[in-house]
Amino acid sequence: MSRSVRLALLGAALALPLASAQDPGVEIYGLRHHVHANFTRIVIDIGRLREYTAGELRGPDRIFADILEAKLNPILHGQDLRVAADYISSIRIAQKTPGTVRLVVDVDFRRIESHRVYHLFDPFRIVVDIYPKSGAAAGGGLPPEPRDAAKPPAAEKAGTEPEIPLQPAQPTAAGYTLARQLGLGARTIVIDPGHGGRDPGCIGKAGLREKDVVLDLSLRLKKLIEAKTDLAVVLTRESDIFVELTDRPTIAQQKAADLFVSIHLNANPSRKKTGVQTFFLNVNPDQAVMEVAARENATSTKTLNAMGEIYKKLVLNDKIIESRELAGRVQASLVKALGRSFTGIKNLGVKGGPFWVLIGTTMPSILVEATYLSNAADESRLKTDAYRQAVAQGVFEGIMDYIHSLGKG
Ligand SMILES: [Zn+2]
Repeated sequence: MSRSVRLALLGAALALPLASAQDPGVEIYGLRHHVHANFTRIVIDIGRLREYTAGELRGPDRIFADILEAKLNPILHGQDLRVAADYISSIRIAQKTPGTVRLVVDVDFRRIESHRVYHLFDPFRIVVDIYPKSGAAAGGGLPPEPRDAAKPPAAEKAGTEPEIPLQPAQPTAAGYTLARQLGLGARTIVIDPGHGGRDPGCIGKAGLREKDVVLDLSLRLKKLIEAKTDLAVVLTRESDIFVELTDRPTIAQQKAADLFVSIHLNANPSRKKTGVQTFFLNVNPDQAVMEVAARENATSTKTLNAMGEIYKKLVLNDKIIESRELAGRVQASLVKALGRSFTGIKNLGVKGGPFWVLIGTTMPSILVEATYLSNAADESRLKTDAYRQAVAQGVFEGIMDYIHSLGKG
């Protein structure tokens, strides 16, 4: 076993696809582990080639791996996995510096025969194998990674339910937060760019993909909020990665968010259809709403039978009225902001609908369908900076309008 820090030096040719101006850092979304009879495997799913360093530290005993030019997706923030092996006490992952993610495995070196940190491709991932003293004596060669390793076993997933960290508002240099000054609860806003990774969302006739546009819209919205307020903003994804629908509200819960805003683009078989629409979680018999919900729910692994769960959650969610209020303010502001510079902006209003991504949050939560990507004129507008900025501005103004309305109440 190598006692010194190991550096994975990747060849110059391999290193070419590393960070560029458009790719400030890969987002790490997956951390999984499995305790086998004679070893434990930990896998960090990275997706894109990254350099990393690995080594071990004493007092307390631990094995670490630092992944460079990487960012931890919020779903993994504060992850501390308990492991069912006496030679490993926990697996932790954290953003060590703005550009480095560190994995730490707390171990007992007296019980470990050897360990190995290496990488695999397609998709790129870093693997840590740890062999305990009793088990390692039996076999020589390293077993191949199981073919189904890309899918986390259900048992692992159940054990990874993170605790919800409390995030009290901190006074800023300028004094208390805007929200505090207004005597309000809003401190953190989670923005959810729809789709991503293997899920492109809807695709326009000219090839524009919903996942790319909504990410850009969300980043613009984040920038606006951060520039003009002292509210904290968290994105459920900051790059082109796949995030499960049900993990998105989990991020909002983990961050103790005060508002949750999911950003999407609409599509309709009728390419003439245009307009802006905002949804909150509710059950609505309107067939048109069911069509939008069915499309946005498409990547959910849940079956239609599980829709019954919505009814139960709805009873528990006391934020429907607030969500409708937030939806109304954002809808009005968005239509207004777009109307300042563009003609033919149609207000399709606010509707309740059964959206998986809005289930499980305990804060006012909405889903914005900013424009129809299936409409050719809308698609060409969506290619422009001016239109995208107007969407971000409209949503921003709606959020601020809602927050200020709370102060008046
Ligand atoms: Zn969508």
